Amino acid sequence: MTLTTENPAALAYAATASQAYRSALSVIESVEPRIADATRQELADQRSSLKLIASENYASPAVLLTMGTWLSDKYAEGTIGHRFYAACQNIDTVEAIAAEHARELFGAEYAYVQPHSGIDANLVAFWAILAHRVELPELAELGVKGINDLTEEQWETLRHKFGHQRALGMSLDAGGHLTHGFRPNISGKMFHQRSYGTDPATQLLDYDLLRATAKEFKPLVLIAGYSAYPRRVNFARMREIADEVGATLLVDMAHFAGLVAGKVFTGEEDPVPYADLVTTTTHKSLRGPRGGLVLATQEYADSVDRGCPMVLGGPMGHVMAAKAVALAEARTPEFQTYAQAVADNAKALADGFLRRGARLVTGGTDNHLVLLDVSAFGLTGRQAESALLDAGIVTNRNAVPSDPNGAWYTSGVRLGTPALTTRGFGADEFDRVAELAVSVLKQTTPVTASNGQPGKAKYALADGVADDTRAACAELLADFPLYPGLQL
Ligand code: PLP
Repeated sequence: MTLTTENPAALAYAATASQAYRSALSVIESVEPRIADATRQELADQRSSLKLIASENYASPAVLLTMGTWLSDKYAEGTIGHRFYAACQNIDTVEAIAAEHARELFGAEYAYVQPHSGIDANLVAFWAILAHRVELPELAELGVKGINDLTEEQWETLRHKFGHQRALGMSLDAGGHLTHGFRPNISGKMFHQRSYGTDPATQLLDYDLLRATAKEFKPLVLIAGYSAYPRRVNFARMREIADEVGATLLVDMAHFAGLVAGKVFTGEEDPVPYADLVTTTTHKSLRGPRGGLVLATQEYADSVDRGCPMVLGGPMGHVMAAKAVALAEARTPEFQTYAQAVADNAKALADGFLRRGARLVTGGTDNHLVLLDVSAFGLTGRQAESALLDAGIVTNRNAVPSDPNGAWYTSGVRLGTPALTTRGFGADEFDRVAELAVSVLKQTTPVTASNGQPGKAKYALADGVADDTRAACAELLADFPLYPGLQL
């Protein structure tokens, strides 16, 4: 349903949701008033700022309310119809509905909706690949049924094999994610990792270089997907490269799942027909509850089902229920309109920046995000992020390719359109966002550090800029209320 105050059905929905939230908050207040206050304050803060964090969104009241129930109280380790606990019939129902929506929405052979987050979804996928490609062949060769039938010596041999597999993923500064084999994350400790980057001249994915690296490195897993790459990926080419080197293709579509669900990414830009496994979060462009899921071909289904107890404990019934509601919403024509607007708005935002002389990584976007290179303003990403926040514009700093300032200070700021598009922003509003952001950054100066070096964190905003920009943001937001009609 389109949530506008002109739509009578939407108004009735908002009135019912208002009642539900007022009641819920008064119940919470009677136990811990500070939590009720923080919950109210978070809504007020989200209502009054420009949320441009590319990984965030606003889930519908239906999705949010679904999470606040007693489905949370049930243990249900195992899989649908095959649980290690009694009385799981309702969790079976919930999980089956969520999985059915996921399969049908994405056209996948198999869906596993238990992962609690994106990181968990990737862990489930990695261990499913290790089970399928390393453990099962080893058991077959030894002629034993399961790992509990192995001798100590055989088990040690298998454990050693698990620890010597290779994964190839996109480098962090090209826009990859920590879970794609990097040392601070467990994926980097599990796998020998190598990364592929982008062409230094165009900053676009270099498929030829990737193919050459894959041929030389021979990974067990080729990981495609990103957190900060502002372009589409050709998954048919990824499949070809994976096939050439005998790798399993894992696509992490956490960031762009909403664009796949909304049929903006189709054909060779849709990962599902090409990948062996696809992972995603459910809370970013997909606009669901915080969580993850794994899609897989039938070949990998049994191994994916081992997610619990491999890396997960009991599934969260209340969150799987909310995933089902969000996935049902994503199957509507309104969601397709929304997803197209997310991509169109990102273009408008990019054009707005470029017209005002700003520098964008890859020179633009064709997905839901732009990566602004703020070194052109003489700032680090950290300074730019803070100055924009002072002015009511919420973004996050992000490394740019070959970033001289590293992953902490960075030279970039990432901005995404999913959240403000949910509020109803269109191209004109995103152009105004670019205008406001450029104006703030032009009026921000780095403050020299105490050692006389150019500072990487401190900055100064010209007088009045923060207040004036906040007022301009409020004016811009006034016509696009968050949760229209919802009153606490
Ligand atoms: N994968 C990608 C591509 C992401 O961008 C993220 C989060 O930002 C994750 C995985 C991890 O998701 P979560 O924070 O739900 O664990």
